[in-house]
Amino acid sequence: MPNTLHVDYELKTYDESMKIVEEAMEVARQEIPKGVVADYIPELGKADPNQLGICIYPLQGEKIELGDYKTRFTIQSISKIISLCVALELFGANKLFEIVEAEPSGEAFNSLVELDLNSNKPYNPLINSGAIAVAGLLIEEVSFHDMLRFSRELCDDKEIALNRKVYESEMSTCSRNRAIAYLLESKNIINSDVEDALRFYTKMCSLDVTAESLANFANRIANDGVGNITGKRYLSSETVRIVKTLMLTCGMYDGSGTYAVEVGIPTKSGVGGGLLAVSDKRAGIGVFGPSLDPKGNSIAGCRLLKEISNKLRLSLFFDTDYLKATRKDYSLNQKLHE
Ligand code: GLN
Repeated sequence: MPNTLHVDYELKTYDESMKIVEEAMEVARQEIPKGVVADYIPELGKADPNQLGICIYPLQGEKIELGDYKTRFTIQSISKIISLCVALELFGANKLFEIVEAEPSGEAFNSLVELDLNSNKPYNPLINSGAIAVAGLLIEEVSFHDMLRFSRELCDDKEIALNRKVYESEMSTCSRNRAIAYLLESKNIINSDVEDALRFYTKMCSLDVTAESLANFANRIANDGVGNITGKRYLSSETVRIVKTLMLTCGMYDGSGTYAVEVGIPTKSGVGGGLLAVSDKRAGIGVFGPSLDPKGNSIAGCRLLKEISNKLRLSLFFDTDYLKATRKDYSLNQKLHE
């Protein structure tokens, strides 16, 4: 087997990497009972909370796949990344940031308080208000069918399809998103048909994916928008730069700061239990674990990524001189106590 992942300057073999991931899975599994599956969309409430799967797709080397990595689940908010990519490619950053900001919100993903009271623009495109605004823009140029095609291509997964049961279940219980959509219309942020924008947004959330399809997409983002085997460019560098930045600052909603400290990998979550994580220049990672923490992020999935980030040293903010710096003669702690 070829070597797969770097840990500092040392290249780990496939077997060594797999062992690290297996151990991380065991630690992460213990978190499952502390979370709950989302049930505000009734169809999602049927998921088995004990599922957990991961696919790590390094830029060089074999995929590392474990657990329920082939199970289909709805992409939910991770679709906000696909919509954001398409909006940036079609309209460019200037036009996009006329309708949404690029600031973390500190509020729940489906909040409309800040939008109503403090701002004339949603805080960012990765919360519901921002993504519904982006949907209002996208429907002027693309159909849902176009988006399905882009999603299959970006995720290298021809099987991605609309999960009708989840879509209808959400449409029949989406008063809050409908309220957000009409608030956006009242502020002239949505100028297209508001019900069409809401349907488009909800359909995008209802695409069935796997941890593997998310890893494929994340791998391309990690490789500056280019397929690592084909060399084909899917997204511009500029789109990729903006998407990675927003994932790091806003991708985990009001849990984004803590997650950045603990994991340090740009990641986007969805209430279906998915996580799409981009370890820049190293690997794309997809995770599935439907038991969620109170902020709506996969509880075992986040723990899994934390373990892997620490063991494989994937955080963006690891000092490459870390080992040297923690040697005794460099210990600040020791110096302070001399
Ligand atoms: N479809 C869900 C909603 O709009 C997506 C939310 C999420 O994944 N955080 O409520």
